[in-house]
Formats: sequence, structure tokens, C-alpha cells
Amino acid sequence: MIRSKQIQRPQLVLVVDDQEINRDALGIILEDDYDVIYAQNGKEALNAMHEHIDELVIVLLDLMMPVMDGFEVLETVRNDEDLRKIPIIVLTSDKSAELRALQMGAADFITKPFDAHEVILARVGRIIELSEGRKLISSAETDKLTGLYNRNFFFEYADRLYRYHKDRHMDAIVLNIEQFHSINDLNGRQFGDRVLKTLGEEIKAFMNETVGIASRFEADRFAIYCVGQDDYKSLLKRFQDKLDEQFPEVNVHLRMGVKLWAEDTEPVVMFDRARAACNMTRGDYQNPLMIYSEEMRLKELMNRRLLNDLRLAVEENQLIVYYQPKYDIQCNPPRLISAEALIRWKHPELGMIAPGDFIPLFEKNGLISVVDSFVWKQAAKQISLWREKYGFTLPVSVNLSRVDIFDPALTDKLVELVRDYDLKFDDLKLEVTESSYTDNAKMLLELIHNLRTMGFEVEMDDFGAGYSSLNMLSDMPIDVLKMDMKFVRNIEQSETDLLLVKLIIDIARYMNLEVVAEGVENNKQLSLLQDAGCNVVQGFYFSRPLPPEEFEKLIEKEIELRGRK
Ligand code: C2E
Ligand code: MG
Ligand code: MG
Repeated sequence: MIRSKQIQRPQLVLVVDDQEINRDALGIILEDDYDVIYAQNGKEALNAMHEHIDELVIVLLDLMMPVMDGFEVLETVRNDEDLRKIPIIVLTSDKSAELRALQMGAADFITKPFDAHEVILARVGRIIELSEGRKLISSAETDKLTGLYNRNFFFEYADRLYRYHKDRHMDAIVLNIEQFHSINDLNGRQFGDRVLKTLGEEIKAFMNETVGIASRFEADRFAIYCVGQDDYKSLLKRFQDKLDEQFPEVNVHLRMGVKLWAEDTEPVVMFDRARAACNMTRGDYQNPLMIYSEEMRLKELMNRRLLNDLRLAVEENQLIVYYQPKYDIQCNPPRLISAEALIRWKHPELGMIAPGDFIPLFEKNGLISVVDSFVWKQAAKQISLWREKYGFTLPVSVNLSRVDIFDPALTDKLVELVRDYDLKFDDLKLEVTESSYTDNAKMLLELIHNLRTMGFEVEMDDFGAGYSSLNMLSDMPIDVLKMDMKFVRNIEQSETDLLLVKLIIDIARYMNLEVVAEGVENNKQLSLLQDAGCNVVQGFYFSRPLPPEEFEKLIEKEIELRGRK
């Protein structure tokens, strides 16, 4: 309800400032619209507030005053249930004081020297209106564990900062703890709480040094809305260092997403994007910081689309399995001995999508198992079709992702395929990437051991791409080592790379493993590998991955060459 000023008594405003010139200035601005009373220090202000508790619609409060300063007034008001109902705008020229005042419950602030009259009137009017509508934040609601604001309060507050202080460029930061639930599970909730508390304290310390507000939304999700910082990397490091220092016995990994200030972007949107950025860093221990960018936004949209479209892709046969041949290069001429099944997605609108664009995405959320099961089945079927057509078996290897390794039904699924298509176990070879090993060593070792005992052959894919150690090679019961492409890429130019390749081949030979070199693109690379004693090669030099019909031409060529039937 809007009260008409003509018939109502003017509303009562208290101006508190020790300087006469300031009282006068505000008086001139306000007296046309309000009844104004004055106080010269905090003590007088509190007296006046008590006296006019039912009439006062707002207090304009200077922070620096003798006798009793503005902070003390705020503190007293905050703890007084009645006084708390009167909104306070603080008058200040000190940015950090503004924030402290806001944190102590001030509704807003006016900067000195005073802004234009209209601005002040608009702010005063707005705050009165808000408080009448009881939309005003009355007292800060905080999270018990960390003392940071809770989510609702935080957003209310952030909205206010956003609306009234557009000149202030605030960034949104989201902080998460990697695998926080496991930390809780392994070390107990109490430990988890201590971690959260420590992080909360460091965030508070940071808040004291900058202009901003912070919250714990829930669990391990922290949010900070603050003026733009120069270096988010070192900010993250500061928080991380604190945790490392306090909990040296446990690895607590933080990750951070930041959305930098942008014109007309509300806090909710800012934080949504900061969260998206933060989520992108999940599991990436090397790069725990992500700053949201337009490119990222498009990628996000694309990812969402791909996730959405996968179901339909399976139903509408948009997924196609390609085959890339592997040749035994110690034969002359090299001999086609097997193939690798590689997924392709023929999207009706986006065209052909390479696995690099969707496999990592699906690996993150587990959908990869849908793709993999599909590929395994197609591959098994293809082996049996070719066996029927050509009278001999061409083994095909399929890729297993980390997610598959966690699937307790994995072995059963594979065995079922072998049975359904009447294959021998080693017709369907299994490629496991080196990185799966580093993730969950024990489980993987057991699984591979079991699969091999049944008769499957296991190849270690992309060997050397990550942080493989020779240790791991001796632990891992495998049959084939697939050397990562990066080694082959430079063997013609780089003496060191050639040496490395030779070394890997020697070790493999010593361990009775077959070596497959991936990514061979030219004759020179081929002959260097031949000389080095590499057994098998897969690469564009022989052929790109092909759809089955085209792959058949390679088989037929091979049959012609060798008279194999
Ligand atoms: P990968 O298993 O190491 O497969 C070999 C990749 O190297 C293939 O890329 C292949 O096209 C590419 N390649 C082969 N020869 C050459 C060459 O001479 N030069 C160059 N530059 N590249 C070559 P693709 O098909 O794009 O697959 C990329 C990765 O995606 C695969 O690496 C594999 O990790 C994954 N992937 C593909 N299909 C599947 C699948 O069905 N399931 C799972 N889980 N992962 C898959
Ligand atoms: Mg592979
Ligand atoms: Mg590979």
C-alpha cells in the first residue's frame, strides 16, 4: 500500500553525524520529504531510537564519531529485538568499513562525500519501502558450522550489492572439495567438519581483507561474492595451503570455479556459471581452477545437448563402430592381424562427432557404459559375421573405460557376448588405458587377472601418455603394450624419443609383452619401428578407422595377397 504524503504525516528519519556540515547537508536533502531529527553521536542516537521507536522509518548513521561510534550502535541494535526493526543506512567514505557495517546488519550505505540528492533520496526511499514490505534482511542467518552466511541470506545480500552498487564489479567464486563424501566416509564426519570449518575460517580471513561476502551453501559447497581479484590461482593456493597445513595426513583437494563480473548479470546467474566452471574441474587434479568463459558456456551447452541426445542416438542407430587395422610389421609385407573397434557418432544435426568430443563427457557421468556395451556387442557380432563370410577369425579389440571397470557385471557381460557369438575368449581383446590403472590399482589388477584367467587378452592402451611408472608394468598382468602416439609422432626428428621407443620395446620384450605402436603415419616411422623390433603397428599409414563395409576391402586385399581363406 502506498501512503500519500499529502494526507499522511511525513515519516520520521534520524540523521546521526558528529559533523554539523554533514547533518545540514542531509537535512537539506531530506527535509522536503521527511521529518528529520538529529543526533551527534552513538549514544544520542540510541536514545533517540528508543524514544521514537514506533515512528522512525530509517536511521542514517555515521560510522566515525566520538563518544560512541557507528559500529557500536550497529552492534547494540543487532542485539536488540525492537531496535532491529528500524533499518540503518551507514554514511562512510571507507570501503572496508562499508562492508563491515553491512555484515553487522546495516541495510545499505551512502558514500561520503555525498552522492547527488536524487541518489540519496532514492536509496532512502527504497530501503524504507523494503523494510515496510518486510523484505529487508533483519539479521544475518549463518551456517552453524562455519559461521558463514547461509544460502538464502547470501543471495539476498548479493542481490542487494548487485542492485545498489553497480559501480562495484563483483566476481562470483565457487569452491568445492574433491570427493568430499569419500573424505567423510574414510575419516569420519567429525574430520569432515573440521575440514569445512578450517576452510570457512580461511575464507573469513580473506573476507576481512577484501570487499565481499561468503557463504556455505551446503556440504562442501562454498561461495564468495567479492570485488574482482587479480590472481585467482594464488587465492586458490592460499585456501589449499591452509588445508594442507592443517591436515597433512589426508589429501584434501580443492577446486574453484570463477565467473568474472559482467554487465547486467545477476548473482544467481553469476553463481550458476561459477558452479559450472567449478564442475568442469571435477577429477582434474592438475587444473583445479576454471574461469568461466564464453567458450566454456558453448561447450556446456554442447555437452548438455550430447547428454540429452545419447538415448536417441542408440535407438536411431546414429552410433556406428569403425574399425582400424593393426598390422604385424615384422612380416614382409606387413600382415593384417586384427582391428580396433572405435566408436563414431553420426549426429543428424551436428554431423560426425569424434569420440574425443563425447567420451570424456560420458565417462564423467557414467553414460559411457551405454556406449561401450553397444560397441562390444557390435564388435563381437562383426567378428562372427566376418568369420562366416571369410572363413577365418580376425580378432577385434574394444576399449574399456574406467567406469566399466567399476561395473560388477563387467565380466558377465563380456562372457555373455563371447558365448552369444560363439567366439573364443581371445577373439575379443580388451584395451584398458593406463590412466585406469593409476585410478584404482587394486581393483583393476584383480579384474584383469580374472579376465586373463578366463582367456581374454588385455592390452594396456596409451602407455606413456600419463604418469606411468615401470613399477606399474611389472604389477599389471597384461599381454600387450600399446605405446602412446606421442612417442611415435617425433621419432624421426627426436633422438630421445627414438631412444625411449627402443627402451619401451626392450622392456616389453623382456617381459614377454607384444608391443603395438599407435599413430604411425609415414613410411619413415614404420621402418624405424621395424628396426627397433616393434611387433605391431596401427596408424593412418595403413588405414584410418573405417566402417565395416570399407574395412572388408582390407580383408579382401589381405586374402588376395596371402591366398588365405
Ligand atoms: P585409442 O583407444 O588410443 O584409439 C586410437 C585413436 O588414435 C583413435 O582415435 C584413432 O583414430 C587414432 N589414430 C589411429 N591412428 C592414428 C594416426 O596415425 N594418427 C593420428 N593422429 N591418430 C590416429 P579416435 O577414434 O578418435 O578415438 C580416440 C579415443 O577415444 C580412443 O583412443 C579411445 O580412448 C576412445 N574411444 C574410442 N572409441 C571408444 C569406445 O568405444 N569406448 C571407449 N571407452 N573409448 C573409446
Ligand atoms: Mg584403444
Ligand atoms: Mg591408444
